[in-house]
Amino acid sequence: MYFHSVTLDRDRCKGCTNCIKRCPTEAIRVRDGKAKIIKEKCIDCGECVRVCPYHAKVVVTDDIGMMENYKYKIALPAPSLYGQFKDMTIGDILTSLQSCGFDEVFEVAYAADIVSYITRNIVKTKDYKRPIISSACPAIVRLIQQRFPSLMDNILDIMPPVEVAGKIARDEAKKKTGLKDEEIGVFFVSPCAAKVTSVKNPIGIEKSYINGVFSMRDVYSMILDKRKFVEKKIDHTSSMIGVGWANAGGESYGTSLENCLFVDGIQNVIGVLEDIELGKLDDIDFFEGLACVGGCVGGPLTVANNFVARNRIMKLKEKLNKDEATKKYIEVDFNEFMLNVKLKKSDVLNLDEDIDKAIDMMNSIDEIYKSLPGLDCGSCGSPGCRALAEDIVKGFASEYDCIFKLKDRIKILAEEINKLSIKIPPVIGSDKEVKP
Ligand code: SF4
Ligand code: SF4
Repeated sequence: MYFHSVTLDRDRCKGCTNCIKRCPTEAIRVRDGKAKIIKEKCIDCGECVRVCPYHAKVVVTDDIGMMENYKYKIALPAPSLYGQFKDMTIGDILTSLQSCGFDEVFEVAYAADIVSYITRNIVKTKDYKRPIISSACPAIVRLIQQRFPSLMDNILDIMPPVEVAGKIARDEAKKKTGLKDEEIGVFFVSPCAAKVTSVKNPIGIEKSYINGVFSMRDVYSMILDKRKFVEKKIDHTSSMIGVGWANAGGESYGTSLENCLFVDGIQNVIGVLEDIELGKLDDIDFFEGLACVGGCVGGPLTVANNFVARNRIMKLKEKLNKDEATKKYIEVDFNEFMLNVKLKKSDVLNLDEDIDKAIDMMNSIDEIYKSLPGLDCGSCGSPGCRALAEDIVKGFASEYDCIFKLKDRIKILAEEINKLSIKIPPVIGSDKEVKP
């Protein structure tokens, strides 16, 4: 069963329909007064988590207690963690994080340095379709698999920094400790739901190198509790390039390609992907699309305001070395860090496997759609009139879920009732005066 991090708390849901219009893949319906997430369509982008006024959309992450199942525990902090704290250096944050029960911390920012290095080198040698599209934001990769399958060949085939970090940290820990793979626990501190899902259902690799994903919110409070008690600081190894990945544009900067475009916010990304699909952006070398506003600093599991966090990251970067500390890894075979499972198009938008049946269904959808008011008001519980037409054809809704259709129907019925009521024979209750 495919795991989804974003779930619905039915008790909190009031069926207000706020979420249905914001979902980029039309994965939400409101039926019988409650929202429902269509799992096959959800890409765990977190938009509905942000907009729900009743906090009924919940991001499921792993329980911190699962660390106890492992002999050696490694924390992988996302670069966006560094933007969450006021007056804490990266060294302070890493030291406090390690003291939360981990044996080691391994920076995902350092792995981002490595990915930047590989990208710079690989784009010179491999004949990539332009624009090359970043594979770092799993919500965007899943969006492409679902809504823009013709762009799948443009996706950069390098593992995202979180998996590169997991692989290196795990391999080094095995050598250092002599422990078996299953005795080493690798835990990612995540800013978002999409990355939780991508660890449970890996994209482009057989199996994730990570055992558990903790919410940045949960870890934030633990770090604040510990900060008073830790003294010796851990030296961090990441450069300004790796740390910069926390903000939108950070990855693009690390590619050193001349013609990069970075766009944040999922609706903006959809607009650009549409233009790429239409061939309007062939002059762009690299496209970095990020589901969250501001990039990962705007992830739904972060604590700080995304603009404040972005500023903090920029200030931290100013103090850092521009050269990456990746020397140890630049001699390794890049293949170790490449995606090795071909990405598949999602078939969730297919109406039926039988092409004739699918065409019939499409014609019915068109017919029903024409009969609907075209206001896309969402009162029916579907995100728009076309989605309602599709739901009707699939048997999940009725045309009277449309309030305008319902109103017209009620009017016709009322007129008919009126006409019929005149015909009621006087002997069964008419109050008409009976003349002798
Ligand atoms: S997480 Fe994103 S894709 Fe999934 S239901 Fe919410 S808004 Fe839609
Ligand atoms: S932009 Fe970053 S935080 Fe937001 S969904 Fe993508 S990977 Fe997650």
